[in-house]
Amino acid sequence: FYAPPSAIRAGRVVLPEEEARHLRTVLRGEAGDDMTVVDGDGGWYRARIDHVGPDQVVGTITDERDNVGEPDMDVTVALGILKKRSRFETFVEKAVELGARRVVPLRTRRTERDAIREERLRNVMVAAMKQCRRSRLPALAAPQSIEPLLAGDVGETRLVCHAGEESVPIQQAAADTRQRASALVLVGPEGGFAPPEVEAAVEAEATPVSLGARRLRAETAGIAALHAVITAQGN
Ligand code: SAM
Repeated sequence: FYAPPSAIRAGRVVLPEEEARHLRTVLRGEAGDDMTVVDGDGGWYRARIDHVGPDQVVGTITDERDNVGEPDMDVTVALGILKKRSRFETFVEKAVELGARRVVPLRTRRTERDAIREERLRNVMVAAMKQCRRSRLPALAAPQSIEPLLAGDVGETRLVCHAGEESVPIQQAAADTRQRASALVLVGPEGGFAPPEVEAAVEAEATPVSLGARRLRAETAGIAALHAVITAQGN
């Protein structure tokens, strides 16, 4: 279950209304049962259920850990906002499963849509976090262009997915990310990045990376790139 940090205090956890209803009506949880709760901030708890009310479940914490299910590396993935909302949602779900810490919906020269369905995407993220047994809820950034993402100091590994002649295989670049604590992975929308966007990324120390000989759909490219970067860390 998911309960925000404010719902976990003094050795007790109070499930939010929707989670409580799910426990009661779908899972038929009862007082005396054990439950696992994550707070989306790295907190992981086992708790013994004390009370199941119509809209409230209260439990006593019996075990507590940090960062269960979290990769070592702090990876941000930025994907061009896709025309088809369901494809963007699928991508967000998979990005959470693969261990991304932040998802940035990118407005690029070739994106055809400007906005995202924020609430819907947050629900997708919460469900994915629970399903894959992570303890951190990744951040969903506001839609933005590439420039602010690339501004500032380069303390992170930066990769721009681009099927160009100068691109290096993602596995090679991902192996080089091991010395850094964080990474930024950029993926274009259906129409790809415009050349000035790739140039801006390269100027800002992003390495152009190839994901193989085939042209992948944007969401497939994002999933493949994330998997390569995060599994190169070994977790
Ligand atoms: N017509 C577009 C182009 O030529 O750039 C195709 C864009 S592709 C459908 C969407 C995004 O996925 C690209 O901008 C790129 O970031 C990524 N991508 C897809 N296939 C790739 C590959 N084989 N290597 C690297 N990036 C890839």
